[in-house]
Amino acid sequence: ETIAQTIDRLGAVIPDYPQPGVVFRDLTPVFADGPALRGVVDALTAPFEGRFDYVVGVEARGFLLAAAAAYASGKGVITVRKPGKLPREVFAENYSLEYGEGTLELHRDDMPAGSRVLILDDVLATGGTLAAAARLLRKAGAEVAGFGVVLELGELGGRERLGDTPVEALVRY
Ligand code: IMP
Repeated sequence: ETIAQTIDRLGAVIPDYPQPGVVFRDLTPVFADGPALRGVVDALTAPFEGRFDYVVGVEARGFLLAAAAAYASGKGVITVRKPGKLPREVFAENYSLEYGEGTLELHRDDMPAGSRVLILDDVLATGGTLAAAARLLRKAGAEVAGFGVVLELGELGGRERLGDTPVEALVRY
């Protein structure tokens, strides 16, 4: 079984969550399976091996992937968080959600300028979240080596919003 087949087998599909008309992809069963979690983390980091100094996780499910990937690579982990969670000076970026607006924040001094970062999250949908995360990292002087997601919802065009930076998606629907 390939890692894509494993994700497809274990991932849950929830219609009308969190609101009517939305089909939610739930990857928690993938994270709960030991070999699947390891396979996902290895597959997300392999294409970027030797090309990143830090792994960035986007709150909250991205934290699970980023911490595991950072540990496996011997690198540090950096958190991109919802507003008001980081105690020191932050950069902030707004982005549009399906309904309304969101904000993400990053500590201004989490890494030296010029650091290369790999940004991880569970799902790429419209790309607004990862695009905002990349803007934050670039404000902080980092170079975004790539993005990694377990699942890409292809018809929402998220990849186009991420420009020329490489995107590794393990499954695309
Ligand atoms: P985007 O900003 O539209 O690309 O949405 C991506 C963000 O929303 C990620 O942080 C995901 O965790 C979350 N998200 C969007 N759709 C889903 C889904 O179907 N399942 C799980 N998370 C999702």
